[in-house]
Amino acid sequence: MARTDSLIVAVLPIAVFATLAGGSMRAVDIDGMQAAIQAYRNGQYDLAEGLAQDLTENETDPVPRAWLILAEVRRHRGQYDRAAEAYRQYLASCDSARLRRSVRRRLQECEAPPPTTNNPSTPSERLTPSELAELAEVRDRIYTESSEHFIVRAPNPKVARLVTELAEDSLRRICGVILGGQAWPHTVEIYVWADREQFLKHAEDAPEYAGGSFTLRYTPDGIVRRIDLTQMDSDGTFDAAMLDRKLPHELAHLVIHEFFGESHCPLFLDEGLAMLAEAEVDHKRILLAGSALAAGDGGSLDRLFRSDRADLDDPEVFYAKSFSFVSFLHERMTQEQFRRFLEHVKAGSTIEDAIQRALRIPPDESFLPQLAAAWEDHAIAEAQYLRALDVGEGILE
Ligand SMILES: [Zn+2]
Repeated sequence: MARTDSLIVAVLPIAVFATLAGGSMRAVDIDGMQAAIQAYRNGQYDLAEGLAQDLTENETDPVPRAWLILAEVRRHRGQYDRAAEAYRQYLASCDSARLRRSVRRRLQECEAPPPTTNNPSTPSERLTPSELAELAEVRDRIYTESSEHFIVRAPNPKVARLVTELAEDSLRRICGVILGGQAWPHTVEIYVWADREQFLKHAEDAPEYAGGSFTLRYTPDGIVRRIDLTQMDSDGTFDAAMLDRKLPHELAHLVIHEFFGESHCPLFLDEGLAMLAEAEVDHKRILLAGSALAAGDGGSLDRLFRSDRADLDDPEVFYAKSFSFVSFLHERMTQEQFRRFLEHVKAGSTIEDAIQRALRIPPDESFLPQLAAAWEDHAIAEAQYLRALDVGEGILE
């Protein structure tokens, strides 16, 4: 997001929301987009194209997001040059890093059909089948590997080495998000247990359902930082999600909890940040958040801020919304603004106050409802595009 000038912001607080919302859509446009996407999904390409064209050409208020529908229709018809042009138009107005990544991949495919092999985006995707088979071996001794911040123990030397490398990568990313790029001069012990049974037997304070856990213990000798993970899945194969998700997720929790110390970190923020640290974006969460909000299950943003583990009606929807909101905020703030936001929350500000202070906007009572509307528009639109791109295929059933 562009840096905002505090004077302009003070005079025109509403303008900030247009930026924060990434240009919010009117209800009629959301309906128009929904109709175009539905037509596209029904295979009614002429209809989808016509509807999308109308939206992009609307004289008073064009909807640049409809370019994505045009691009998809053209790609389907094998009109790769025209599709590439539409993807470029769409990218020029797209403010979601996640979508830009997916759309750029589509653009590359159109520029060089037939498509080249996808660039592996997650650590586990970079592994060959023979490497995965090696990582699934459980030896009868424990191997130790260490690096600047980690001491890793696992019943397989390759697992120990890989987890050490990826833990350093994850820590760098997490410190960038949470600590504004500051160094983190501490050591974490990571235990990788062979399977769930071993994990539950040895991990400290492990909740029954988790595939990983973190512990932060304050002792007279200092702080003990520990993460417990599992090597194997329940089906006897190497647990790739351990590398892509569980390791960065638990590490993020650890850094967050130490950062907040005695202060309270709201649950949505704690989980949202931990999900943001994961190496792989779970599209299911984006789709779920979008569809829950589109179905009028917005609840209040205020309620999301105050939710506690004990009062979650639907934990999956809560996680999805937490991820959606925290990444919405993170994408729209500079690293410095985001760090300031976390500092204000830590100092006891409410979430809405912390955001306004971080953005250096004067307090305004209409801030929260406007923020909620901007986020809901964004989340609903983001889910729509993912659906249009069919990246959710296979997880929608
Ligand atoms: Zn978590």
